[in-house]
Amino acid sequence: MAKIFCIANQKGGVGKTTTAVNLAAGLAGHQQRVLLIDLDPQGNATMGSGVEKAELDMSVYQVLIGQATVAACVKRCESAGYDVLPANRDLAGAEIELVDLDERELRLKAALALVGAEYDFILIDCPPALSLLTLNGLCAANGVIVPMQCEYFALEGLSDLVNTIKQVHANLNPDLMIIGLLRVMFDPRMTLQQQVSEQLLEHFGDKVFKTIIPRNVRLAEAPSYGLPGVSFDKSSRGAKAYLDFGAEMIQRIQQM
Ligand code: ATP
Ligand code: MG
Repeated sequence: MAKIFCIANQKGGVGKTTTAVNLAAGLAGHQQRVLLIDLDPQGNATMGSGVEKAELDMSVYQVLIGQATVAACVKRCESAGYDVLPANRDLAGAEIELVDLDERELRLKAALALVGAEYDFILIDCPPALSLLTLNGLCAANGVIVPMQCEYFALEGLSDLVNTIKQVHANLNPDLMIIGLLRVMFDPRMTLQQQVSEQLLEHFGDKVFKTIIPRNVRLAEAPSYGLPGVSFDKSSRGAKAYLDFGAEMIQRIQQM
């Protein structure tokens, strides 16, 4: 059965989507069967996987409101070799429509139960909010990967996320745990980043992933070509880091 991970951080622009897309590509590069779920109405993970969000007949929106199965909506990221359950603006409406549906937090979990055997990893790219959409992701997942920049306010935002995860763990999903904190957009020349990184290691110990994702312009350029950074420029430092992170995740799930 697939292990399911949310890539979550309610802070915007911290590298969630870049991590979701490139970890999917990195895992596929290690011969893993991967489904990437775009749970953000911005549709960035969809576009970054080379799937045109404006041309979708069906998306994760139909899955959440019970009008389609995951299998019927899945597209393929051909360049990297993983499946994508895409999203577009329609998903913004789901937030409101879900409120009136039964088991509104558990819709994604129920839908994924049907495809779990077909994948090794299912990754969920969450929107930058602790919303009902994110809650659906957290209820479906075995664990949370938290990408963060090593900046002063990063630690403050983390406590809200940790509290939400604790609540979901206590009330809705006893499986849920933080798998790890991933240091992203890291620039070793910045003293502050070094300091925050050390603080993270002090507070969270081995919950901090060994792999560090550097700030790398190739990762930022890749989405405009509809490619994961890992496919766009395999030799870049960013691509190599996400391939390493894929290997670290494969190791981690063997300990779960
Ligand atoms: P949102 O909260 O809006 O969903 P996000 O957390 O998904 O944002 P991304 O979209 O992944 O964040 O990244 C924000 C910006 O930073 C993007 O322009 C992306 O290309 C860039 N970026 C992400 N990671 C890196 C990196 N390692 N090096 C350089 N640029 C990066
Ligand atoms: Mg995003």
